[in-house]
Amino acid sequence: METARFGGTPKGGICRLALSDEDKSVRTWFAQTCEALGCTVTYDSMGNQFARRAGTCETLQPIMIGSHLDTQPTGGKFDGILGVLGGVAVLRALHRADVSTRHPIEVVNWTNEEGARFTPPMLASGVFGGAFTQEFARSRPDKNGITLGEALEQTGFVGEEECGKHPASAYFELHIEQGPVLEAEEKTIGVVQGVQAMRWYDVTVTGQDAHAGTTPMTMRSDALWSAARMIDGVHQVAMNHAPDGLSTVGIIECLPASSNVIPGSVHFTVDLRHPSDGTLEIMEKEFYQTLEAIAASCGVEFSISPTWTSDAVHFDPLCVSFVEKSAQNLGYSARKIVSGAGHDAVYVARVVPTAMIFVPCWKGISHNEAESAEPHDVTAGANVLLHAVLQADSEMA
Ligand SMILES: [Zn+2]
Repeated sequence: METARFGGTPKGGICRLALSDEDKSVRTWFAQTCEALGCTVTYDSMGNQFARRAGTCETLQPIMIGSHLDTQPTGGKFDGILGVLGGVAVLRALHRADVSTRHPIEVVNWTNEEGARFTPPMLASGVFGGAFTQEFARSRPDKNGITLGEALEQTGFVGEEECGKHPASAYFELHIEQGPVLEAEEKTIGVVQGVQAMRWYDVTVTGQDAHAGTTPMTMRSDALWSAARMIDGVHQVAMNHAPDGLSTVGIIECLPASSNVIPGSVHFTVDLRHPSDGTLEIMEKEFYQTLEAIAASCGVEFSISPTWTSDAVHFDPLCVSFVEKSAQNLGYSARKIVSGAGHDAVYVARVVPTAMIFVPCWKGISHNEAESAEPHDVTAGANVLLHAVLQADSEMA
């Protein structure tokens, strides 16, 4: 609630685009708050902020906790912020209880996670994990033509250290679920196993424009009727792999869009997801076969072009077990869960053993000013984070 002042909106959300004045304010707050707890704050070449609490064995690589403090233009108070402030809560708890850890503990604020000002999302954690080059990331422009590199130089949040060179032994990210499952099942903690695989496609269905009054039903090549059956088929592909398979048609365009012309051309998008790359591969085959069969029986042509693909991410089994055991030891109800959304942890997991903790959010609503989470759930998440970090500290090299 304190940091929600920086970019706070009248509707109770936050507008805090990456490297804006509001983001500068919260970054300064973060640095000062951590420094007051005895931490040292450094930056890498992508503006990622690292607040380090020293360990007793400085040759050990730090255990990192993190997420992001930037938001969508009409974002909420919890997406990303919970992970960074949960980290600050861990630092406070260790500080107050005067506990020393073997590993240094670091809280990280990743730059431009949302991708709302500079696309794509998770840009700086992506450079850290080797998904993007720094040159590409720094060249990304906002809508006024200011590049991320220029914004970094202007704000001064740039360090000497090359992004990706920062050592770490483990990474933990606390986040709201951004979906409805934990709330519906009345579970407090989601033990995140990884992130599901996703594939996107553009589909074009081509029939024949014709007069609605003079063309007999048996002599039509109706692209929209065919597309309607195809969309039902796409739905069925996911249902064949329930409950983990997901399929969505989110955009549909129909031409010539006249009430007395049989549509000759339809374009629609398809989004397929599954936690397993192998099953998603099968779903893709079924999707292609379904469309082929429908096109043949409806007398239309079609083409599918893949537009984006993201493989499944499997988090580190040892780090995930620390989260699971902590939830158990603290007496919180928990379930295994797979993330449906992307997070900084997706890219960090490429180079550092990683796990995530989810807590419920109101009605699963996120990327929305109404985003909300209950104090007792947020507290539980921060507690699990603290204890997972302590377990990692005692068990990991
Ligand atoms: Zn987030």
